[in-house]
Amino acid sequence: MNKLHRFSFVPNPASDETVYSWISRYHLMSGYDSFRNTTLALLGVHEERATNEFPCFIPSLSQMTKVAVNDIIKQMTPYHYFAPFLDAATRKSFFKCLEKGCTSNLQSSLGMVANRITPGQFLYCCCDCIAEDTDKFGFPYWHVEHQLTGVSVCSKHHQLLHPVYRVTRKVPILPEAIPEPDSRPQDDRLANLISTELSSHVSLNTDNILIAYKARLNSMGFITVCGRLRLKLLREALKDYLNKLTPGLLVCELLKKQLIKHRYPECLFYAPNASHHPIKHLIMIDYLFGSWRKFSELVNSNLAESMAPQPVHVTQPIMLSAEAITKISNGISLRKVSVDEGLSVTTLKILAHREGLDINLRPSKIFKYMERSIWLKLMVGNTTSSIADEFSISVGAVEVILRKFPDLVVLRKRIRVYKQQIRHRKALLGFLNENTNPSRGLVQKTIRASYTWLFKHDKEWLYQNLPAEIPREQRYACKSSKL
Ligand SMILES: [Zn+2]
Repeated sequence: MNKLHRFSFVPNPASDETVYSWISRYHLMSGYDSFRNTTLALLGVHEERATNEFPCFIPSLSQMTKVAVNDIIKQMTPYHYFAPFLDAATRKSFFKCLEKGCTSNLQSSLGMVANRITPGQFLYCCCDCIAEDTDKFGFPYWHVEHQLTGVSVCSKHHQLLHPVYRVTRKVPILPEAIPEPDSRPQDDRLANLISTELSSHVSLNTDNILIAYKARLNSMGFITVCGRLRLKLLREALKDYLNKLTPGLLVCELLKKQLIKHRYPECLFYAPNASHHPIKHLIMIDYLFGSWRKFSELVNSNLAESMAPQPVHVTQPIMLSAEAITKISNGISLRKVSVDEGLSVTTLKILAHREGLDINLRPSKIFKYMERSIWLKLMVGNTTSSIADEFSISVGAVEVILRKFPDLVVLRKRIRVYKQQIRHRKALLGFLNENTNPSRGLVQKTIRASYTWLFKHDKEWLYQNLPAEIPREQRYACKSSKL
């Protein structure tokens, strides 16, 4: 009763005002001294911060002020910023948490911790809004919209928001009327989109979000005829998009890093059921649709499903190319043609038969006297196909002999490795001869195949012959001087 009495003169919340702003104004009007020991204590907040985003004291605040819990949650917290991207069950438990005041785990359950996008230590305000609010209501206050991740400008006044550091919880902080530079058009567009999302109170059919993205990506040429996403192009496009925003927005810097690491936008497509921070969706939506309305209408319509690109299956019958026909007619071995055509020998035989081609299968049986000559050739490392050609027999017949001598297989492998070693060592030495003192990175980049082979099979020799390593300190020095 006592508590209720002390809250009896609570001011009415203003439009788009945050809970924190509301209780701060109450505190200043009450004339109490310590914010922590009086107002926050009345609300049952002792140890916790008076968190701006998801306060834990909504139930007691509702009881004391007689403002419905539902109204506080939906109008004075960023509930509608998160809700559209949550499935029905998660959305329900999100609301329950706020309603019951169990908000300690909300940041992690909404994916904010995993996404490393948590609200910072700043509150944001707009100089012109302060003037307007003071004019209209008699006081300035903190707007919900201005505090949302991704909103760096006032969508109404086209200027950057002014950050105010929250130093202490002993004193409530009020907005400071400090003008900031004008925003860029891209900042305005994103802020408008988020503002519309917040005020539209729409529930999305979350199953359709991905379908809507893919449908739009398809019409923009980001999907191949086989139904694959052109991720490289999409990453570049999103990078361009982020670069058009006013630099310095922390979340943009984070997303740019995730683009480089191929985590964004991949995460939206490959882990659709994970909790992604709304900003990851909102950036994508702004890039693809340019407006919240267009996107939400598509997601909630039956169109989304029908517009989803279907993978195109190529079911054209396999045909022999004219080139293959000529080769087979000229007696070139089926094995060779099969490599060129990318078909198996069996398929090739069937197709050649269909074309009425005469296939001169070379004998697979060999005479005893030939066997020793073939064995000798195999021992010095000649390829099976060259031996087959020389003796006018099939490659299979040569392989039969090879299989008879398991030691020969091991020996031939050694010969092969030796030949490769000579080739790759020669490539490296040749490169070092032609370039004066190249960095190890350049060697690796330019003759990658040889470098990789030597690294795997001939590491000691590689390191003996590579140019000296750049000392670690100098490496950093090089990098930072570039920056
Ligand atoms: Zn404003």
